[in-house]
Amino acid sequence: MPESNHTNEINALRELSRTVGEDPLQVQAAGGNTSLKQDDRMWIKASGTWLANAVDTDLFVPVQLSGLREALSKSDPRAEKSVDFVEQALNPAGLRPSIETTVHAVLPQKIVVHVHCVDTIALAVQKNAKALLAKSLADFNWLWVPYIRPGLPLSKCISAAITPGVEVIVLGNHGLVVTADTVALAQALLHRVREALKQPVKSTPPANLETLHRLSADSQYLPANDLATHAIAMDNASLTIAAGGNLYPDHVIFLGDGSTIADDSNSITLVAETNKNENNELPLSIIVPNAGVLMHASANDSQRALARCLSDVCLRVADGSNINYISPAQVHELLHWEAESYRQSLAL
Ligand SMILES: [Zn+2]
Repeated sequence: MPESNHTNEINALRELSRTVGEDPLQVQAAGGNTSLKQDDRMWIKASGTWLANAVDTDLFVPVQLSGLREALSKSDPRAEKSVDFVEQALNPAGLRPSIETTVHAVLPQKIVVHVHCVDTIALAVQKNAKALLAKSLADFNWLWVPYIRPGLPLSKCISAAITPGVEVIVLGNHGLVVTADTVALAQALLHRVREALKQPVKSTPPANLETLHRLSADSQYLPANDLATHAIAMDNASLTIAAGGNLYPDHVIFLGDGSTIADDSNSITLVAETNKNENNELPLSIIVPNAGVLMHASANDSQRALARCLSDVCLRVADGSNINYISPAQVHELLHWEAESYRQSLAL
């Protein structure tokens, strides 16, 4: 690719990355990632950075593709973090490549866009997701990959299952990948797939902020600022889904295992104390049925974005759906994954 075309493409990718990154229905916090392949080099979003900042900040890391692919083919453990394949001379900020770099590397197309689209996730958390998706994606060459830990295990699964021409991948309990050979084609494809997967959103009454303020007075909690966060508390079916377990990895990584739901009989401080995690930390969010969501005062922007995401996903799951939760063993695997601890350490 001539250098000027490459510059145009990387600029176009930065624009597309910002657009999807600024849309909470496609990307939450540092989730999602995009990449561009140029000969033997792949520019991939850096771990822990936000796609929303892709135009204003340099957040793409150059990775040597042949070296990484060879490591993948030999099951070389260095493929997991991919840091040994970064072209450090072109990485002055010392950024670390996305935890999903290997997923991008196993795909042949020049442009890969991975989003945590809430409409996709609302389908991809259901036990019959593949059948539901088959109806909506009949016009696409697409692949279904059941849940497996993101990063290396996921890239191995995709690599084993992919067939020539696949341009859309739906990741069980996780999200969506679209691929194309130009940014413009990837953007158009992403738009068409999102339209095809769009789910009706259940309507809910507004949050009861007065109740939330009353309950949280003298506690370390405050009503969530983003009003969309509260919807989960205002719809019984959505509340039941959230109470049942963990739906997708970033919930576990940013908010911890499961959701804390208050009952009427106890003070918020008592609810928080009795729901500490294994590290003796208070829950970051507490759902108060028929009132809204309280966030711990220390919650950062990433944690707040994921608290809202729970509402956005659950309100799109049709009533009566059978949910496929991430298993306790899979939750444990996510909570003890070094690459994720790094990403979280950068969280804003
Ligand atoms: Zn992902």
